[in-house]
Amino acid sequence: MTNRTALVTGASRGIGLACARALAEAGAKVILAARDRAKLEAASAAIPNSSFVELDLASPDSIKSAFAQAGRVDILVNNAAITKDGLALRMKKDDWDAVIATNLTGAFLAIQQVLPAMMKERWGRIINISSVVAEAGNPGQANYVASKAGLIGLTKSIAQEMASRNITANAITPGFIETDMTAVLSEDLKAKMLAQIPLKRLGKPEDIAAAVRFLASEEASYITGHVLAVNGGMYM
Ligand code: NAP
Repeated sequence: MTNRTALVTGASRGIGLACARALAEAGAKVILAARDRAKLEAASAAIPNSSFVELDLASPDSIKSAFAQAGRVDILVNNAAITKDGLALRMKKDDWDAVIATNLTGAFLAIQQVLPAMMKERWGRIINISSVVAEAGNPGQANYVASKAGLIGLTKSIAQEMASRNITANAITPGFIETDMTAVLSEDLKAKMLAQIPLKRLGKPEDIAAAVRFLASEEASYITGHVLAVNGGMYM
């Protein structure tokens, strides 16, 4: 991946940070993006050949200025996401809007920022981090699940629009991965999730990063519009 620049959103911690590390190890120049500058600074300091930009995916202006600062991006990993859970019956419209804005609209606007240079280069990789719940549904997460299912449709449409330019677009659907996002869940719920995972362990951020590194590589040049499940078998 030498000579390639990768931008990873939500790279200050969790899966995004593991992706940034893996892409840097594979030789890419990596740009870490998220909202918290202090965390980005610390994360970037530990990854050789990396830099960072502040980015708030809920703000179209922030997206524009972050990508202007980043310059040419060959590999975009749309990884950042938020949750605002609640049963659909009582879900506030603000919570619906916030999750769709960050997880889906933010990813779309980021893609729009990187496409022109990728088209010119006739090379590009777009990797969208969706979720197993996009495939299976999940009570209490209508907004998050809709955003993650939307990402799959977005991925397939971009794959079809951009194939002639040698730009691939793929999605990854992680299962239950050990990060801050899942640390807040009760031990009881974690035990129930574990019981549903045939490989009998929770996933690690590095499990997702390995799939990202592969989809970003030259070896994956004939794979596009694919949804790759990395979930320990919890949904087949
Ligand atoms: P996480 O630990 O909560 O990290 C989320 C990252 O996104 C952070 O770096 C955060 O940094 C950034 N972020 C949040 N809002 C943002 C915004 N408005 N603009 C820019 N960056 C923002 O999440 P994770 O567990 O690593 O999840 C990573 C991805 O995998 C997400 O798309 C998630 O939906 C997906 N996923 C996770 C699991 C799981 O079990 N963990 C399962 C399936 C799918 P700041 O707060 O500094 O902005």
